[in-house]
Amino acid sequence: SEVKKAYETLSDPQKKSMYDMTGNASDGPGGFPGGGPGGFNPFANAGAGGQNPFANMGGQGGQNPFAGMGGQGGNQGMNFSDFEEMFAKMSGAKGQEKAKKPQGPEPGADVHFKLRLSFLEAVNGASKEISYNTLRKCTACSGSGAKDNQEKAKCPHCNGRGKKVMATGFFHMQQDCQHCEGTGSTAKSTCTQCTGKGVIKDRAVQTLPVPKGVDNRERLKITGKGECGVRNGPPGNLYVEITVDEHPVFHRDGVDIHMVAPITLSQAVLGGPIRIPTLVGEVETKVPAGTQQGDKVVIRGRGVHRPTQQKTGDFYIHFSVMLPKDLTEKQKAAVAQFAEDEK
Ligand SMILES: [Zn+2]
Ligand SMILES: [Zn+2]
Ligand SMILES: [Zn+2]
Repeated sequence: SEVKKAYETLSDPQKKSMYDMTGNASDGPGGFPGGGPGGFNPFANAGAGGQNPFANMGGQGGQNPFAGMGGQGGNQGMNFSDFEEMFAKMSGAKGQEKAKKPQGPEPGADVHFKLRLSFLEAVNGASKEISYNTLRKCTACSGSGAKDNQEKAKCPHCNGRGKKVMATGFFHMQQDCQHCEGTGSTAKSTCTQCTGKGVIKDRAVQTLPVPKGVDNRERLKITGKGECGVRNGPPGNLYVEITVDEHPVFHRDGVDIHMVAPITLSQAVLGGPIRIPTLVGEVETKVPAGTQQGDKVVIRGRGVHRPTQQKTGDFYIHFSVMLPKDLTEKQKAAVAQFAEDEK
């Protein structure tokens, strides 16, 4: 059968390298029939029975790595590298390194928190109290997952490895030790508060100093403030994703601030003093005589101050001339007089 051919081919190193290149040792390119777009599956017929070299390997049904594979079509099939990896795992030393060790420390997950700030909170910096679901270290076992904070008792059946090696022909297969369920430690040494994980679900509350000048869609990283690692693994990070509300007057572009200041016809024509709101309160500045619609003045250094980037922005005032709509008779006469002089 095809399976038998694959098996025989892989037992022969020279043929195996041919197999790597073409996908099929003897028939040239094309691969196994029925391979489909997901790559060929050398175990596609594994359910067939007598000719399957892996059929009797599992021992306990659930432990058989090939159980249930027969029904998979081409799309779901393993590709060749999956097969090679599995083959390497089954054949010994390499597999031991790859086998997971459930009793070891594991890094904590990152926490992502969305923080909404007002425009001026972002400009001026703020101290925000935030709370989020996380995992904290189990105090009962100091994060070790072991009972009474003692050294974990080694499982005597697997000498603490959590694995047993089974030999079937020239295949060596690892199985979880039944006595310790693969943990390598005896059940009674497990901390009952955290069921051996060393971490407990918790609600974290902390005060977050938001630095001056943060901007919309920026992200703060607070190292080590994510979830605690399992069994004293390293903690994850806290990422705070910032959203900044719009301001009715100020518009921000990086560290620069822009605003539109309405002025009257006479202010535009004659110029004069004007009071302008800025980030630090009102200031008096000047409308230049002959200001046109959209003309701007810049106040240097009055934009956003970002100490962390050593940047200070500028403050842009865009003038918008409000032409009068309802004139008194006297004003009309004055404009008419003005029109005479324009000719
Ligand atoms: Zn064991
Ligand atoms: Zn614990
Ligand atoms: Zn502008």
